[in-house]
Amino acid sequence: MWRDLAPIGRDKDSGGYRRYAWTAADADCREWFKAQAESRGLTYELDRNGNQWAWLGDPNAGDAVVTGSHLDSVPDGGAFDGPLGVVSSFAALDELRARGVEFTKPLALTNFGDEEGARFGLACVGSRLTSGKLTPAQAAELRGMDGVSLPKAMEAAGYDPEAIGADPERLSRIGAFIELHVEQGRALDLSGDAVGIASAIWPHGRWRFDFRGEANHAGTTRLVDRRDPMLPYAETVLAARREAELAGAVATFGKISVEPNGVNAIPSLVRGWLDSRAADQDTLDQVVTGVEKAAREYADKHGLDLTTVRESFTPVVEFDHALRDELGRILGTDGEITVPVLGTGAGHDAGILADRIPTAMLFVRNPTGVSHSPAEHAAEGDCLAGVSALADVLEGLACR
Ligand SMILES: [Zn+2]
Repeated sequence: MWRDLAPIGRDKDSGGYRRYAWTAADADCREWFKAQAESRGLTYELDRNGNQWAWLGDPNAGDAVVTGSHLDSVPDGGAFDGPLGVVSSFAALDELRARGVEFTKPLALTNFGDEEGARFGLACVGSRLTSGKLTPAQAAELRGMDGVSLPKAMEAAGYDPEAIGADPERLSRIGAFIELHVEQGRALDLSGDAVGIASAIWPHGRWRFDFRGEANHAGTTRLVDRRDPMLPYAETVLAARREAELAGAVATFGKISVEPNGVNAIPSLVRGWLDSRAADQDTLDQVVTGVEKAAREYADKHGLDLTTVRESFTPVVEFDHALRDELGRILGTDGEITVPVLGTGAGHDAGILADRIPTAMLFVRNPTGVSHSPAEHAAEGDCLAGVSALADVLEGLACR
């Protein structure tokens, strides 16, 4: 399976994947999923939002156990983010069939569409539509860099954009959703474990900092006469790093816009975007309040104006505690939870669905922690450990 998927949507020069929603590469990935489903005698379904399903047992029986992830990618993404979860789902089913287990509940494998949001700028479109968190009207407003709207892109790929929308009936069939994913960090590498269980997706947000000063000549304006917004901005970047370190969180200024943006001009405006994430809301508030307070002090010191705006915010997503503990017992020793349980700063379809259905995640060790890059990697042995863990979980949930 891994070999079949490897060439699809891969850029020759970067070696990274460009599998964007509703493109030819995406269609090839979907063809692959359908073929895998059919070759195993599973009932294939494409839902109204373009998510793919492969059923073993009666889809309408209820209390189904579902596992899967996504096949699309970020620009120049790695091979593992998404596909590892989908391939592991099929491999886990093969493993369970080899074990000769008997299923007492329906099982479904799934590929959620447009998880990365690389084309239309919004992540998890397939699961957001299904859960009603993205309305058809909002989806119609989404437009790619190529100017093509989401409905037009779906139509061009042979789907009916009129059909999209919330699908509570489908969600009501599901008793548990498990997403296996490559870890996008180094917690498992540091703990020395091949597989871990997710506890929660960290709350995260984006804040814009506008430092306003006065544009002037870089050669003739004496230092004491300057009102240079780059100085408090630079100090604020360092403050963000300091606050994050103190709190055990992360904070990043990764985007900046400068006016007039001239090499020989003192800036009149420096606009920086802070992305910050932490294990819990209080910690995140503490970091952002600390950065804002520092920025205010630096701006005052230089006699400049500062405005801050929160542009987006996603609260913490706690995965279902009962399901998480059950996974821990299934994968643990003698009923004790011995597998690491870890939080993550990255978003997933499982996070979108978590307040609708009981949801859990398994992470597979990523030795460098690198993700969203062609360098993303997981060792074959760890991937196989992931398949085996997923098979154990599915057996525990769907065969008793
Ligand atoms: Zn992913």
